[in-house]
Amino acid sequence: MRTAVRIYLDYNATAPVPTEVAAEVARVLREEPGNPSSVHAFGQRAKACLDEARQSVGALIEAEPSEVVFTASGTEANNLALRGAAEALAVTGRRHIVTTGIEHEAVLATLKALERQGCTVTILPVGETGVLAPDVLAAAITPETGLVSVMTANNEVGTIQPIADLAAVARSHRAIFHTDAVQAAGKLPLSVRLLGIDLLSLSGHKFGSPKGVGALWIRRGVRLIAQMTGGRQERNRRAGTENVSSIAGLGVAARLARERLVTHATSIGALRDHLERGILAAVPHVAVNGDPARRVANTTNISFDGIEAESLLIALDLEGIAVSTGSACSSGSLEPSHVLKAMGFSNARSRNSLRFSLGPSTKAEEVDAVIATLPRLVTKLRGLGRTAGAVR
Ligand code: PLP
Repeated sequence: MRTAVRIYLDYNATAPVPTEVAAEVARVLREEPGNPSSVHAFGQRAKACLDEARQSVGALIEAEPSEVVFTASGTEANNLALRGAAEALAVTGRRHIVTTGIEHEAVLATLKALERQGCTVTILPVGETGVLAPDVLAAAITPETGLVSVMTANNEVGTIQPIADLAAVARSHRAIFHTDAVQAAGKLPLSVRLLGIDLLSLSGHKFGSPKGVGALWIRRGVRLIAQMTGGRQERNRRAGTENVSSIAGLGVAARLARERLVTHATSIGALRDHLERGILAAVPHVAVNGDPARRVANTTNISFDGIEAESLLIALDLEGIAVSTGSACSSGSLEPSHVLKAMGFSNARSRNSLRFSLGPSTKAEEVDAVIATLPRLVTKLRGLGRTAGAVR
């Protein structure tokens, strides 16, 4: 394997940890040994670390810090939101939940589990650009609908949903509105008040905190049943001693992301557009997936006709370039991306799409290197495909 070049274009999978964040995590590990639930000074110092992080996570989404509950991941935040709301709603008889087909598995699999527990779930179609139209949501809501969950930005194609409009539809039917903002937090300006939502999930490692820490914002007054039972941490909303050092890191990552939101979105967006234009010009028979006008600035998803995305991913990896695909290998065969399928694309197009996701450390030279490398790999793989086709 050639290892001279290492180009990381997989920020939607996870983002590298900035030096300032790593320094804070190490400092807290070294200097703050207390349990934040302890009454003594050691405990109170650890609690102060949580309080500071809660402030900066609250500021990132314009929320009250007391409404922020720390979790061990974005997945756990989604589980707490959906299971906690569904359980609280059970007594009201409103057991119908509405979502979209492009959600992350952390939402879709959780809703499947809730279906097994007696909820009914409607999965709405999205258009070819991946946007859920508010009138499609309105038509799906019934008197039994208690909960609506729509992601803010999609992890594969980057499409941003009209969350304020969708939340207004849910509110007019007195349904709780949850958004999985894991791919939006730290990339887009977010204000939970302006959006008019009830629950928002985020995950730290998508914007520079250590992995294994996330948060659920719960609007005051929204009733959720805790899913983790035990101690009284997080105001009885999530039992278990908090991961103080990682949460402190999440706090710093949230502060940095907020300070740099606009400059990063502008510079990363320019590089993403350069990459996209470069690929479209250099490689024939390619197409961009998603809504070109309503996307997070760092993401582009491109279909390469006649190529299994997994093969191109591996070929790029051998050149030191890391990207990803929404297709998942299951029982030895390649499952097409459920997101692209839900957007109405064929199995073939859903299998031949690659996601390039950039971040604050991405350099123009790296983007140029990817544009220069791709045509050779695509030509080779298409050639192999034709040969394989002739043999069959
Ligand atoms: N939701 C979305 C949209 C995601 O992209 C991811 C991670 O890829 C998650 C949820 C899960 O977050 P975590 O990795 O923190 O469990």
